[in-house]
Order: sequence, then structure tokens, then C-alpha cells
Amino acid sequence: MILIVEDEAKIARFVQLELEHEGYSVKHISDGRAALESALTHDYELIILDLMLPGMSGIELLRRLRQSKDTPVIILTARDQIMDKVAGLDIGANDYMTKPFAIEELLARIRVHLKKRDAFKADRLTYGKLVVDRNSRSVTYDDVPVELTKKEYDLLVYLLENKNIVVSREQALDAVWGFDFYGNTNVVDVYVRYLRSKIDDVFDVKLVRTVRGAGYIIKD
Ligand code: CA
Repeated sequence: MILIVEDEAKIARFVQLELEHEGYSVKHISDGRAALESALTHDYELIILDLMLPGMSGIELLRRLRQSKDTPVIILTARDQIMDKVAGLDIGANDYMTKPFAIEELLARIRVHLKKRDAFKADRLTYGKLVVDRNSRSVTYDDVPVELTKKEYDLLVYLLENKNIVVSREQALDAVWGFDFYGNTNVVDVYVRYLRSKIDDVFDVKLVRTVRGAGYIIKD
């Protein structure tokens, strides 16, 4: 869940729709004080923070948040708030964008920060006898090495990270091939087939399941 803290309704609505279109769940709060309360009591994946807010300034919100939480924060500033931008970075903002901004750039930055956060996650992902060691980027099934290409590996990791959640082709494409990939989502189907041929067929298991009309899932 991503939190948008922004009192300009039009901007908030626009960003929220774009994020939801990308598959994120989003909460929007326009008051600074209410947003701090929510940010302290929930584990948001990321916060998009306007600085000029009713209730409490974005800078003050961030300062108080950082006393107990390291949720990634992207600051939104107007052009004439450069000093606030500097102050924001000083007290622990992870990034900033100047209004007006291109939504594509905001989405790209969000991805970068979510990826960084993910890098701190578990070193080993497992599913039954399948083990993925992220440090060595190696995959084994029942201790037998499985040789995967980089994209096959990335797709497998993404599916394992989302275990028991249906992953759409668009989500997989974004996560594995990246925001700048303009190809067809069929590439996901192709790579799922590769994974099946290297794991399911070899070890006689059912790893990646197709959810008709929705995407793919690895589930217990
Ligand atoms: Ca504002």
C-alpha cells in the first residue's frame, strides 16, 4: 500500500489513478497530522509527500516519522520550495520531485525505491524442495542445480515473492522486464513455459499455475 499525502485534490486523484492502474493499492490523506498518524500506525510500502499541507507541514511530518520508521518517502515540492527540498533530504527523504512532474518519472522512481526496499528482504526463497539463494542467484530443486537465464530467474523470484497472489502479465512484465519495455505481454507466457520446461517437467512438479484470464500464481 502506497500513501499519498497531498491536499491538492486534482493532483492526488491523478496520482492515485495512475498508481492504481499500475497495480498498486493506494491510500490518500490530505491532512498532514492525519497522515502522520496513519504512517506511524501502518506499514506503508512508500509515501508520496507534499510539503505544503494543512494540519502539519510535510517537513514536520517527515521529521516525526523518521524518529521511528524508515518507510521510503518521495517528496513533492513546488519550484519555489527548494530550501524545503534540501531540508527534506536532510531529515531523511529518499527522493524528491518538483511540481509539475511527469507521472512516468514518478512511477519510475517509485519502482526504484520499492526495489531497494525489496533488496533487504530474505536471502532465500523456498517453495517445497525449490530453493532460490539470492546472494549467489542460484536455484536448486531437491539439491539439484537448476540453470536459469537472468529473465527466467527474475520471473521465478517475482512469482515466489508474490506466492499465493495472482500475478498479472502486466505486473510480471513491469517487475521483470522493467518500465521501459514496450514489448508484448506474451513474453511472460513464453518465459513461464521456459520455467516449466526446466523445473516442472524435469522434477515432475506443478510450480507455476495459470489462472485463466488473470495471470499466473505459485501457491501452497
Ligand atoms: Ca500542498
